[in-house]
Amino acid sequence: MCGIIGIAGQHDVFPELHAGLLALQHRGQDAAGIVTFNNTFKMKKGLGLVSTVFAERHVPRLAGPMGLGHVRYATQGSNEELDAQPMAVNYPLGVAMVHNGNVTNFGQLRRSLYQENHRLVQTTCDVELILYALAAELETKNLSRISVDEIFECVAAVQRKVQGAYSVIAMIANVGMVAFTDPRGIRPMVMGQRFDDEGPAYIFASETNVFDYLGFERLRDVQAGEAVFVDMERQVHTRICERAKPAFCVFEYIYFALEDSVLHGRTVAGERVRMSRPLAATFAKSGLAPDIVIDVPSSAYFFASGMAESLEAPYRRGLVKNPHMGRSFINPTQEARERTVRQKLNPIKDVIAGKKIAVVDDSIVRGTTARHLVRMLKDAGAAEVYFVSASPPFVHPCVYGIDMSIKREMIAANYSVKQIARYMGADAVVYQQLEDLQALYSDLPCCFACFSGVYPTELSDRDLEELEQERVCSKNK
Ligand code: AMP
Repeated sequence: MCGIIGIAGQHDVFPELHAGLLALQHRGQDAAGIVTFNNTFKMKKGLGLVSTVFAERHVPRLAGPMGLGHVRYATQGSNEELDAQPMAVNYPLGVAMVHNGNVTNFGQLRRSLYQENHRLVQTTCDVELILYALAAELETKNLSRISVDEIFECVAAVQRKVQGAYSVIAMIANVGMVAFTDPRGIRPMVMGQRFDDEGPAYIFASETNVFDYLGFERLRDVQAGEAVFVDMERQVHTRICERAKPAFCVFEYIYFALEDSVLHGRTVAGERVRMSRPLAATFAKSGLAPDIVIDVPSSAYFFASGMAESLEAPYRRGLVKNPHMGRSFINPTQEARERTVRQKLNPIKDVIAGKKIAVVDDSIVRGTTARHLVRMLKDAGAAEVYFVSASPPFVHPCVYGIDMSIKREMIAANYSVKQIARYMGADAVVYQQLEDLQALYSDLPCCFACFSGVYPTELSDRDLEELEQERVCSKNK
């Protein structure tokens, strides 16, 4: 999972790209990078947080009226500097690119790019493939006067070749900026506009929270299979290049996007409240009656407060999160993950002691977080602990860029709900029902593959095996 941003503005956009990446930092903390264009590409990228990669001294060198930014959370591929984005080529003309998602036909594409286009893929990062695929298509055109139609033809050809989930922003030197998604629009990308004194400025980003910080107005989401091209005069051209049945990743609403973002016209906070209604109904059916409902901060706040409202039980802040701790999820070993969870969350004993507690988290993947929380709450004196997951059970790997792709690690793929409760030491475990979640999205076609096993793109058992194998390898690196 990653965060991307692109701005085609009227004056230096580097400070805005930098601020935008800070607003997207929750989407990736492994690496960060920015490239601007001002007669030539100027790039700076590296491993770590945005605040680690960029220093004051980079500001003058990176000035330019158009640019791209990226924050990376390595899902597929290794976490090396070589894999950081943006990436760029200078033949047949300068193209720089950022992307969010996961290419599912990596091996086959790498081979064909080498055999047919003589391009040697050097990294394990998907964007390199998409970049070469676009460069190879551009090479077939007369580049001294490439037309808008031809740019869309090139994007369509890339969309036909590249399988999987991807939201991409590319800058083509002296031609413009083009943003496009895979034919199903699995990963998010939104578009905004601002009128500066010198003329309009356009922005593309993974989430709209960036627009609010930078003073852009949200125009709309980039549609499934659509390409939006902003030329050097800041004229906007759009086309649906390759369309398949849309399948927007529902986990963006559950976990990834921030509460203040608007995706497909819906605020993430509002979606979490909507999801809390059927979750509360399922919980009520179990006959349990909590004294209080608490959340695992911070993504579960709207699930827990919404559920409390429906159950007419008080919502309380029962856990404090240390904001300076790293993420537990991406630690390489179980022991390290458990240690991080312990150091990251602390119960407020006065709130917890003597109470029957429903504790709500966005999801249970391996069960590490939940198990430690249950123990922590019991140690703090909780009378009973009911662990509630706002996601249905994860039983299938995500091949579209969410980091949970090893099936043998997913607790719900291997154990029953009763066994999971026993493992956690919880008095009950309650999951969101998949049918309830699907019913909430009858008017917005979503991808539920990690819960249902129904993958919206073509995927053979062999592809799945290869992807899982790659994931195991990169985790062991
Ligand atoms: P686990 O301890 O393995 O069950 O992980 C579940 C916790 O990790 C939940 O508290 C989620 O907030 C968080 N989480 C779920 N999915 C992801 C993901 N793809 N990347 C990072 N964190 C996640």
